Amino acid sequence: MTPLDMISPDSAQHYREAVGATVDRLAARIATADLPTTSTPAAELHRRVGAIDLDAPAIGTDRALAELDELFVQEAVWFHTPGYLAHLNCPVALPAVAAEAVLAAVNPSVDTWDQSRIGTDIERHVVDWLARRIGFAAGDGVFTSGGSQSNLQALLLAREAATDPTDTAATGTSAALDTLALFCTAETHFSVKKSARLLGLPDSAVVDVRTDPAGRMVPAALARAIADARTAGRTPMAVVATAGTTDRGVIDPLAPIADVCDLEGVWLHVDAAYGCGLLVSPTRRHLLDGVERARSVTADLHKSFFQPVSSSVLVVRDPADLRRASWHADYLNPEDAAEPNQVDKSLQTTRRFDALKLWATLRASGADAIGTAFDAVIDLAEATHALVQAHPDLELVAPTQLSTVLFRWQPAGVTDDEADAMVAPLRAALLAEGRVLIAKTVIAGQPCNKLTLLNPATTREQVQASLDHVVATAEGLRRATTPTTTTGANR
Ligand SMILES: *Cc1c(COP(=O)(O)O)cnc(C)c1O
Repeated sequence: MTPLDMISPDSAQHYREAVGATVDRLAARIATADLPTTSTPAAELHRRVGAIDLDAPAIGTDRALAELDELFVQEAVWFHTPGYLAHLNCPVALPAVAAEAVLAAVNPSVDTWDQSRIGTDIERHVVDWLARRIGFAAGDGVFTSGGSQSNLQALLLAREAATDPTDTAATGTSAALDTLALFCTAETHFSVKKSARLLGLPDSAVVDVRTDPAGRMVPAALARAIADARTAGRTPMAVVATAGTTDRGVIDPLAPIADVCDLEGVWLHVDAAYGCGLLVSPTRRHLLDGVERARSVTADLHKSFFQPVSSSVLVVRDPADLRRASWHADYLNPEDAAEPNQVDKSLQTTRRFDALKLWATLRASGADAIGTAFDAVIDLAEATHALVQAHPDLELVAPTQLSTVLFRWQPAGVTDDEADAMVAPLRAALLAEGRVLIAKTVIAGQPCNKLTLLNPATTREQVQASLDHVVATAEGLRRATTPTTTTGANR
């Protein structure tokens, strides 16, 4: 039997060699990876994984790591390549990657002070910094696994506030779960609707407030929806405004929405999972004006802060709000604990020390560098809109505010139905080839393709080349599916 290979004083040299060799292999791949992925068919990938018997005799650390490189890294999807244009995945800041390697070896957990000590201080310092960037005078928060969990926790806190008769800022009635109402829009991230379900609210609790043609919540419609809900005997629990919707990248009008929430005494949650990079933008910070009036904010650092997955923060304006989800265990974090235990603020117990990655990035490059990188992808999206509009075979479907581009392939003579039918096969054909990866979605009932630009190193020329490739691929698909009109001479 091969003994378990573990980090220990005895293995320090082997650790250096094994991880060093792994990093060397990775660096070699990164140096040459210019395509987002390979063209290996999905069936072959399934086969390769399925062929490995996890009960087979062990092969040792060095061989296992070399195998992992061939099996996984070789077939990975690379977000730093110019052809990766599909989803909200970012290339990552190098200091954060090194910090991640530290986390893997040290293996801290920022649940209790006695498991993390200075790690707790670092997380708190990073959260305080982020809270000040939002504009909270004395906010607090906690790192989470992602925007979905940040949203879930925010809505849990809002639900507790709405059902807490002593809460002054909220509605103040002890409302039953099935009378609560949650206001968002059709453009809101699905994790909000899923959270409502997880929190025991009926699906009817979620009210989609009307949006303007750009997809932004209409504040007057919100005020009316809240009034209607009250008339119907329901208790408004929270309003979720989005700062950067996943498809259109648009920002709900935060200040006018905050006005409505203040007037009505309703919890405002701002989902800035995508748009949080604007907090550090040297030129576009004003797009988030009003975010400081939210009671809670979601920020996904693994999107617009260029951090490795996972890295998200839930920030609250009033530190006391975080205690609404606290739970105390005698063995871990008793109520009378003198030590600062982050677990008191989290839905998780054992929890990654993701704050160290942003810490390293801020220390290495500073906040302006992050914001400048996010600005660069928004500038690139603006340039791409112009490229799409100038292309005879592409249609711009809707303008966007952050770094997404919504378009369709529709040359002259191609009907709407034909263009609709091209959206899904086009994405699939490009994925199968692995050169240019794009996404698809539906905007105002119409299927379309989508680019999400998050690589500040990608140039306008590279996007132009990718768009040309998308068009050529669509033409190829059309030739393959349209029966060729044969002439009499061929019969
Ligand atoms: C990505 C996203 C989420 C979900 O975040 P995860 O980190 O993927 O869980 C929530 N809201 C918005 C607006 C998003 O773009």
